This record gives sequence, C-alpha cells and structure tokens, in this order.
Amino acid sequence: MSRTEPRIVERVDELQRWADRERAAGRRIALVPTMGALHEGHLSLARLARGLADRVVASIFVNPTQFGPTEDLECYPRELDADVERLAAIGVEVVFAPSLEEIYPPGDSTWIEVEGLTDGMCGPFRPGHFRGVTTVVARLFHAAKPHVAVFGEKDYQQLQVVRRMVRDLRLDVEIVGGPTVREADGLAMSSRNAYLSPEGRSQARALCAGLLEARALAQAGERDAGYLAELVRERIEKEPLAEVQYVEVRDAATLEPVERLNRRAVLAVAAVVDGTRLIDNLVLEETP
Ligand code: AMP
Repeated sequence: MSRTEPRIVERVDELQRWADRERAAGRRIALVPTMGALHEGHLSLARLARGLADRVVASIFVNPTQFGPTEDLECYPRELDADVERLAAIGVEVVFAPSLEEIYPPGDSTWIEVEGLTDGMCGPFRPGHFRGVTTVVARLFHAAKPHVAVFGEKDYQQLQVVRRMVRDLRLDVEIVGGPTVREADGLAMSSRNAYLSPEGRSQARALCAGLLEARALAQAGERDAGYLAELVRERIEKEPLAEVQYVEVRDAATLEPVERLNRRAVLAVAAVVDGTRLIDNLVLEETP
C-alpha cells in the first residue's frame, strides 16, 4: 500500500467542506470512528474501509459522553502521533481529531438515544453509554458525510445500535461490520488490554476460551442457550481475578434473548478482569 501523509482535520466545518468537494467530484467516502490508541483491530477496519471507498476518514476522539462517572475517561490512552503514523501506512486520507468543544459546542443539548436494544447486555452496566455512542456517531456522520461507515463486531451491541439509529433516522449511510481481531492466544484486541497486569492478561484469555468451548458444543448440536451461557460463566469464574457481568445468548440481529439455538445468535460476555472491564462475543451460526 502506498504511503500518503493523512491530512489532519480538527474542525467540523473544514471536514464538511472537504466532504462536499469529494462528493461533488463523485468520490465515495468511508468513515472509521475510533477513540485512538489504535491496534490491529482498528487498523483492520481502516483496511476494510480502504477497499470500500475512494477516500477514508478515520476519526480519533475520546468521547466523554460514553464514559460513566467512575469509568476510565481520564486515563484512557492517548497517542495521536503514533496513531497518525499507523493510519498513514494504510493510506487513510484524513484523520479527524477534533477537540471536545468542536464535537460538543458549549450549550448543546441534543442527544440521540436508541431504546430497547440498549436495555440489556452492556446497557444496565453502563448507564448512558449507548446514548453517548449514538450521539457522537451521529455528530461524526454529520461532520464527515460518509457513504459508508465501518464498525467492529467486537462491540456487537454497539454495531446493532448504530444500525438501528441509521435505519430509524433514515440516514443515508451504509453500516459495515468488521470481524474481531484477536491476539495470538485468542484475547480480543482492545485499547484497554494495556491496563492488564501479566496475571490479568493471562486470565483474560478465559473469555475467548469459554466462548470457543461453548461454540464447539453448539456446533456439535447443543441447543440449550442457558446451558452454554452457564458453561462460559463457569469457565471465566475459575480465574481468581475475573468477575462476570453477564453471559448471554441473543438473536444476532434483534438482540432478543434466545433460549433455544434455532436461529443465528450471538453469545456475548462482559467481565471485569483485574479491574478492567472486557467484552467479547462469538456469532453462533444457524446449524441444520
Ligand atoms: P474504540 O476505539 O474502542 O471506540 O473502537 C473503535 C472501533 O474499533 C469500534 O468500531 C470497535 O468495535 C472497533 N474495534 C475495537 N476492537 C476491535 C477488534 N479487536 N477487532 C475489530 N474491531 C475492533
């Protein structure tokens, strides 16, 4: 891939003017929203976007409205220069790195909230989180005017919530999901993995290990979703530093709870390991 220095844009109006020009020239724009501290998971989405559009915008914005009051907003890793280098290597044309005031001008009072889909799974553990996500994503869409936006399946509920927002508001943007990228031992990549101690890092493997064991049983014919979820919970709770928040099986599209595996479903988990909240999931394909 040829290396271009991305243009770094900090202002919404500048990005909108750029997007208008690109659209007028008939070029397709892809957006990859991120909070920075980029790892291979993010970069895989940027590569996917590269193949879907003529111009790729990656946004880097640590969005305060999606963090709870006791969460890690203050210590969330920030490494803009290194992130720009990583994106340059993929040929991303624009890095949008706005200030807080640029995304949330003082005095703003508009939120976007998707109901229903946000009630379960991570919703109760992170009150206000999805409202923060949909609000910032809508604002990023308004700034970058993308034809297509790419999100990771690692944040499975987020992906479905964004899809619903786009559907309900009839936003003219295609949402594409990219597969979860994992470390060699299976741990889903996350900017938060950097918080883990060596012991925590080693025990964090249990999330993915439990999901894989359950999926193997499902593929072998097990249909009882509650049983599979319980196995995953037990596997994770064998680890002394791990505390499960939820293990659930949900319909892959609607996120409705599933009891018997008779349709495409997602097996999703959230656990606090060594003080760090981690999530992971696997899709259980419909088997005949
Ligand atoms: P974040 O910076 O954590 O807000 O993530 C930005 C985007 O990258 C979201 O769409 C995430 O779902 C996606 N993402 C995060 N981790 C991974 C991963 N391990 N594999 C694929 N996508 C990921």
